[in-house]
Parts: sequence; structure tokens; C-alpha cells
Amino acid sequence: MNELHYPGDPDNLYEQTIAEVLATADFLNLPEHLRLILAQPKNEVMVHFPVQMDDGRWQLMKGYRVQHNNVAGPYKGGIRYHAGVKLDEVKTLAVLMTLKCALMRLPYGGAKGALKVDPRAHSSEELMRITRRFISALGNNIGPDYDIPAPDVGTNAQIMAWMADTYINMSEMHNRVEAKSVVTGKPLSFGGSPGREKATGQGLVFVLETLLPNLGIELTECRYSLIGYGNVGSWTARLLQDRGSKLQAVMDHSGAIRNPEGMSARKLAEYVAEHGGVVGYPGGEACSEEAFYQEEVDLFIPAALEQMIGPEQAKLLNCKLVAEAANAPTTPAGERVLTEKGIEVLPAILCNCGGVTVSYFEWKQNRQSETWEETEVDHKLQAMISEAAHRVHAFAESHHCSMRRAAFAVALQHLQDIYALRGIFP
Ligand code: GLU
Repeated sequence: MNELHYPGDPDNLYEQTIAEVLATADFLNLPEHLRLILAQPKNEVMVHFPVQMDDGRWQLMKGYRVQHNNVAGPYKGGIRYHAGVKLDEVKTLAVLMTLKCALMRLPYGGAKGALKVDPRAHSSEELMRITRRFISALGNNIGPDYDIPAPDVGTNAQIMAWMADTYINMSEMHNRVEAKSVVTGKPLSFGGSPGREKATGQGLVFVLETLLPNLGIELTECRYSLIGYGNVGSWTARLLQDRGSKLQAVMDHSGAIRNPEGMSARKLAEYVAEHGGVVGYPGGEACSEEAFYQEEVDLFIPAALEQMIGPEQAKLLNCKLVAEAANAPTTPAGERVLTEKGIEVLPAILCNCGGVTVSYFEWKQNRQSETWEETEVDHKLQAMISEAAHRVHAFAESHHCSMRRAAFAVALQHLQDIYALRGIFP
């Protein structure tokens, strides 16, 4: 089978992502072997395991861990809990992790995991049993020097604590200190890093601070809309509020709300924590999905799931810039419409790399049995992100290409450099 010739399903997320990887490889004139290696993940692990529910029934669970590439270091990437998850989605997210880590020059490759489960449909006890059994099913497919999971959609610090505890208990006695760094995004009192919970939102704000002046937008006067009010969306909103930006419209699984005067990100976060969604928040009025997309703003931030901005949504958008906080939220067809309308897109592998970067800081702290100050974490994160943002911007300017093409190119060039030095085993 020739990995480079896909049947061509324009709606398939994996094909869309690999098509952009291959187009960027063409643009850079990269060698054929690199294109071949990157077109498929190295390993795709799929596990099924039974778990007993609180009422005594047994449920069979399905889990994935896809390891895309490890030329730059151990595999790294989150684990999501979502009922609708599919293998191609996990493969795509693993590719994006390889690119994200390469773009940030982190000593990691890329991976992603998923469990086909709706975390909201289970008690905390059930989630703990499911999580422990998942980690035991993955066995030696993860490890602090081999593959390091982290939170993603539907998982959090508590779930990471159960993962680490299970892995530590499965480890040899003499490896138990090191075993803690098998996952990142842990709670602060159990090996987590200050600043990790807000890290993805914080990273996005640092990217915007670095690049918005080039686009003539000031964060102090920026009006924006947001899809998703989970970890990434709500932290982005809280940090943007501190900069003076105005949240005019927000949409999540419960529906959409707007307020042209702006909404309090903190009060909205409290409301969502209590009610499970944004609809009903007294500081905004309910609006249709169409009206949400049409809201006139400077910045539009998708911070939920993949493929949310297709051509239909792109036609409605009334903004100057889309900053992708979620992974792969814009489809290629959606992006073509945005480009025709003159709307710039800041790509996810740059915008949301704050999460994995602070995961790297957590892993380093664990290995040295240290805890850094939050200001130190923020400072290091800002330095690394603004450097990456400048690298991407400089490439886009000098090669007259989109920021997405530039971000992929800067990442692929780094991988090519490593392959050229290491050679291909044996
Ligand atoms: N799940 C996050 C992402 O997609 C974080 C991954 C990590 O920290 O390893 O970037």
C-alpha cells in the first residue's frame, strides 16, 4: 500500500491533516522518506476491557493510544474521554502533537489517547475504576521515558492522579519516584506544576500578545467570541479579561449567548461550574447559532472540538482573525472561505502549545524533585512561546505563505534536521 496516496475523502480529518503535512513537505522539498514516515503513526494501540458499574452491571470499554512519531524524544500527548471518539480522530491528534512539540523544540514526539466514554455519565467511583483499568490495559505502552499522557477533552487533574497512582503501583519498587512523571497535568499537591491548569489559555494569550500588534489589533480593546467554555475556553477568557478584552458571544454544548457590552469571564466560569453550560447565564441573552457566528468581533476563538468551522460557519463569521485554541477546529474548505474573506487564521499547533509546554516543565520538575514558582513557569512559557510565534511569523513573511503553512514548515524542518543527524535505524 502506498501511504502517500489516500483515496481522497475531503471530510476525513486524518486525510485533511496529512494532506497539509504532505503539501508542506512539497513546499519545503523534503525527502520522500520523511513524507512516508510521517504519513502513518508508528503504533496504534487499541484495548478493550470490562469495568463493573456502581449498580453491579459490567460494561466493556474501548481505549486507544496512538503513537505517531518519537524521533525527537518520548511520545507525548493527552488522553481524551469522549463518547464519540474515533480512531482517525486520535491519529490526527497524534500527528498534531508531533508537529506541536517539534515547533516548540520540546524533546518529545507526538501521541494521543482516547477512551470511548462520556465522563459526565459516570460517578467519580466509576471513573476511577475505568481509569485504573485503562492504565493497566495500556501496561508498558506508556512510561516516563517512553510515552507520557496528559489531560485533554473530558479529562482533568484528578484523572491524571489516578493514572499516575495506577502506574506507580504497577512499577518496580526502585522505579517508583521516576514513575510519577508518567503523566503530566497532575494536581499541584501530587507532582503537578504551578500554572499547568491555565497553561493552554495562557499560551494562547502569549501568542496573541506577540502577534496581534502585526495585525493592528490591541488586546486592551479586543472584542471576541468563543466556542467552548471548558478548561481552555474559560482560562483564555479569564486571562483576556485581565488584558481588557471583551467577551461578546460564547457558545457551548448547551447553546449560545451574547452581550454586546461584554460578559464577566469569572462569573461565567462560576455559572458553568454550577449549571454545566453557558445557557441561562444572567449576564447574556440567548441567541441562535447563526447569530453567534455573525457577531461582529475582532477575534474568533474556537476552543472546543475539531471541524467546527466549515464553509457554512466561515461564511457567517464577521471577524478579523481566527485563533485556533482547539485542535483542528477549521476544515480546509472552511479555511478557504476565511482566506477569500481576508480573515487570518493562527493555527492550533502554535496557539494551543502552552499546555504541552508546561507539561514539559512538570516532567522536568518531577525528574529533579523540584517545584518551581508560578511566576517562573509563566516567564519560561512566555519566552518559549514568543520565540516560536516569531519563528512562524518570520517564515510566513519570508515565504509569502499562510501562518498554518509556516507553522507546519517550521515543525517539519526541525524533524528533518533530526532525521538527517540520526539516520534511520538500523
Ligand atoms: N492535550 C493537550 C494538547 O492537545 C496537552 C498535551 C500534553 O500536555 O501532553 O496539546
